[in-house]
Amino acid sequence: MIEPKYYQIENMHCGSCVAKIEASLKDIPNINQASVNFADHSLMIIGSASDDLVINTLSQVGYRATLKTFTNNNENFNQETAFLGKSAQKFIVALIIGLLLMISDYIYPYIPALDAQYGQITWLVIGFISLFVMLFSGGDIFLGAWKTLLKGTANMDSLIALGTGAAWIYSMLVVLFYQYFPTIAHGMYFDTAVFIIALVKLGSWLEARARGKTSAAIQRLIGLQPKTAIVVQNKQETEIPITAIKAGMLIRIRPGAKIPVDGIIIEGESAIDQSMLTGEAMPVTKHVNDEVITGTLNKSGSFIFKATQVGGETTLAKIINLVKQAQNSKPQIGRLVDKIAAVFVPIVLAIAVSTAIIWYFVGPTPSYLYALITAITVLVIACPCALGLGTPMSLMVGIGKAAENGILIRNGNALQSAGELSTIVLDKTGTITKGLPEVTQMFSYHGFIAADILKLAAAAEKNSEHPLAEAIVKYANTLHLSDKNEDVIIISNFKNFPGKGVIADAANQTLIVGNKTFMLEHKINIEVATPDLKMITTDAATPAFIAIDGTLAGLIAIADPIKDDSKLAIQQLQQLGIEVLMLTGDHVDTAKVIAAQVGVNDFFAECLPDEKHTVIKNLQQKNKIVAMVGDGINDAPALAQANVGFAIGAGTDVAIESADVTLMANSLQGVVHAIRISKATMRNIKQNLFGAFIYNVIGIPIAAGVLYPFFGILLHPVIAAAAMAASSLTIVMNANRLRYLH
Ligand code: ADP
Ligand code: MG
Repeated sequence: MIEPKYYQIENMHCGSCVAKIEASLKDIPNINQASVNFADHSLMIIGSASDDLVINTLSQVGYRATLKTFTNNNENFNQETAFLGKSAQKFIVALIIGLLLMISDYIYPYIPALDAQYGQITWLVIGFISLFVMLFSGGDIFLGAWKTLLKGTANMDSLIALGTGAAWIYSMLVVLFYQYFPTIAHGMYFDTAVFIIALVKLGSWLEARARGKTSAAIQRLIGLQPKTAIVVQNKQETEIPITAIKAGMLIRIRPGAKIPVDGIIIEGESAIDQSMLTGEAMPVTKHVNDEVITGTLNKSGSFIFKATQVGGETTLAKIINLVKQAQNSKPQIGRLVDKIAAVFVPIVLAIAVSTAIIWYFVGPTPSYLYALITAITVLVIACPCALGLGTPMSLMVGIGKAAENGILIRNGNALQSAGELSTIVLDKTGTITKGLPEVTQMFSYHGFIAADILKLAAAAEKNSEHPLAEAIVKYANTLHLSDKNEDVIIISNFKNFPGKGVIADAANQTLIVGNKTFMLEHKINIEVATPDLKMITTDAATPAFIAIDGTLAGLIAIADPIKDDSKLAIQQLQQLGIEVLMLTGDHVDTAKVIAAQVGVNDFFAECLPDEKHTVIKNLQQKNKIVAMVGDGINDAPALAQANVGFAIGAGTDVAIESADVTLMANSLQGVVHAIRISKATMRNIKQNLFGAFIYNVIGIPIAAGVLYPFFGILLHPVIAAAAMAASSLTIVMNANRLRYLH
């Protein structure tokens, strides 16, 4: 996987910037994907383009970007705090001056009139104080507007700069040439200009604060990794920083310590709390040769493990990477909004100009003043912040929330699809059942001796990784059948047939182990086993036949118990209105019993791995939006074909990268949870977009003065600025509601 790089974009003010930045990077070779997240002002680049190239390209279109590093967590944090501090400062200065001007102007007529003694000079001073505050607090807005103007385009900065600039210039003209203006037009708008800047800054301060909170999930994950570890070298134990740990080093874990890197226990054992990653509350007992994962917590035991994956290779690093990438991705709905935001600004400019023209010609006197004020109000009210924030804010909170529950959602599209599912196909083994099959019964035929057959079967199955194979080997081991060195069975010509079984040569005999289909394929007569087969399958166990040199020698029953909460989870899925199906390579009768036990109405049995993929495809052709839940490795083609592939129980696995949704815990409950979070997030996004849309649909006409002819209502530009800040705030608050989802 190519590691994505992240850049922080400093001077990004509105949703219309998103499409512009992405477009500027689109045609650069060595950039496969560029995606801007407006909620945290970050840019994600996948590709091999150099940092300089990216930063230069952005500066050409008017944006300052810096490379973001997540290892240097403190630095990012300091940057973010500094930014927050600066935004607050800018807001407060503009607010105080704006308030002072407003109070003295309207409430206490302390300031002399223009035609009074010292009137003109006083107002000139006020004008320049206002200009100073506008530039101090809103300098970046004017600069941004200027830069985009040079390129012949416009953005949100342009709207604000034009609105406040026009208010200031008009007021200055009145001060300088008051004789030529009627007295009624002497109402100056310096306070308005300053106040609008104050409110815009209030908006960006609130956004920056929310941004800090939305990345909390990432911060929490980063915080899981301890800063130091105790290394054992030549029987000496020394504490070193985790960055100095290399694969192969031996690390001592004391009671209560966090695991610093991924590895394998080589001495001792302990119960480990993995809940921070998997969401599973029960600690897991780990022995020698078991894997331990970075960031999990050792309970009371003490052990030594060998580091296997360090640095960016640890499971935790991969999870963090995935969550970051997902938060930066966009569901389809988000792309649509970016397109709208890009054309939004020119449309608003056109509306503002039309408004001014109409007021100028049909408005009351002084009509030029009404034309000016209504145009300014339209410019200020229509800033597309809310529109741009709606999708990424909710997505970041939703994906972060899921991550905290051990659910890794790969990207926005997966989230969108997971919220729209009509059908879920569950793999049986390891998904509905525990995936820890055990041999429960054994039968032998045609004079073969059970112990001998088992010994042979175990020798062959040692070469297979199938859970059934492991069950056979384990059973043989517990009976001490394969311990004695003198009769080790030599296996040759081993062949694995996925979904069927294995064939191998052992001690001059040809051995076939597998299911009924596999036996029939090799013309093995299994009639003698019919009653036993019937009994095994009605017990929900899986049959494994063993044939030696073309004759059926034995039959092993392997049972895999159903997970405690599978039935409940399936019920909950059905209550969400989703059709639940089961899919398995197992015997049809076994499948029937299991399906009945967990309440699944329909199932597909005896499917070969590639047939599983076809089952999904056929469902999709019936216009169903299909999810597949499987263990991520065996079921890879089916997981890939499904609209959403859920990999289950991948907590200790590297399979994180292969599925749309990875469930760290080994429970179907995670699927229910993931779907609930996805549905809630999509609903939240739609609410935000609807809100932003309605706000503009209602706000712009009122700002333009459509209510004036009927009710005499005109909005003051400051009210428009307040409405704009309020609309952003509403979106931030609505997105944050997702945090309290259960
Ligand atoms: P599932 O869908 O239950 O995960 P698979 O597709 O992996 O099943 O396998 C389907 C069937 O093929 C198993 O139920 C079993 O009967 C048979 N089979 C596959 N591999 C082996 C093996 N190594 N030994 C015995 N039987 C096997
Ligand atoms: Mg399977």
